Amino acid sequence: MLESITENLTNAIGNITRGKLSEGNIREGMGEVRKALLEADVNYDVAKAFCDRVTEQAVGDKVLKSLKPGEQIVGIVYNELVNLMGPVDHSIAIRRGETSIIMMCGLQGAGKTTTCGKLAKMLMAEGAKPMLVAADLQRPAAIEQLKVIGEQVGVPVYWEEASSSTPVKVCQNAKKAAKQQDCNVIILDTAGRLHIDDSLMKELIQIDNKLMPNQVLLVCDAMTGQDAVNSAKAFNDALELDGVILTKLDGDTRGGAALSVKAVTGVPIKFAGMGEKLDLLEPFHPDRMAQRILG
Ligand code: GDP
Repeated sequence: MLESITENLTNAIGNITRGKLSEGNIREGMGEVRKALLEADVNYDVAKAFCDRVTEQAVGDKVLKSLKPGEQIVGIVYNELVNLMGPVDHSIAIRRGETSIIMMCGLQGAGKTTTCGKLAKMLMAEGAKPMLVAADLQRPAAIEQLKVIGEQVGVPVYWEEASSSTPVKVCQNAKKAAKQQDCNVIILDTAGRLHIDDSLMKELIQIDNKLMPNQVLLVCDAMTGQDAVNSAKAFNDALELDGVILTKLDGDTRGGAALSVKAVTGVPIKFAGMGEKLDLLEPFHPDRMAQRILG
């Protein structure tokens, strides 16, 4: 993953820092950096603002007249990459003495149902007692999939017949069931669609208003680049997200989604999906990602 952005970015930075540094060659070289970011599917405005910030710091006398200006420029790029993706608060705000509610949303295929299971597993390891809730009544297969995942993780799954219930009812009843079964967190697996549409958003807003979740998390597929970022913006406009979980970062992603989500939406990536297995969810660390990107 990320091979091409790493190669393009390090080449561009290498071209800047190799020769004698001047304001002119820094500005020229930053054009290459911007190209590398755009090729990695970083949002255009984000790439431009990033390069402007780096340039502004790099062309100052403090850097040009320093002993190792090349190293300083690499440091500036690294810091700006970290700032672009952070800061991140990984906490999931589990409340003592009451049922905490985590609402998971996302487009179909992003990895939402799988990530519900991963999150349940992670919370169990931290001592919580989660319950998964099948709030996607659009696709009967979604309920079955969640049941299988619940069994694999070893957590109860609350579900109702799709034909005789509504997503809000399922979530409300699940809250009661969680109390009875001594679970302190419910994770709502809400419906996804292939594209954002009004009916999807209305359904999610209704659940959000009635259940008042402690956290609303959006699951986004890193492989879809700017589409992931655009969908994050639309979901955040409708729901005020607390965080994004970026899936499939183990795949052949170009890195654009990871680099753009926070800047475009103001919402940090909290966790990253690193594979299909249910233990492959990691806290997202902007500093480690920046290191990885810079090779
Ligand atoms: P949903 O439609 O959003 O609920 O998506 P699913 O949970 O059904 O996941 C869609 C596909 O993506 C499945 O084949 C998952 O195994 C896969 N998937 C989910 N998360 C990851 C991840 O982090 N990495 C990889 N490689 N595959 C993932």
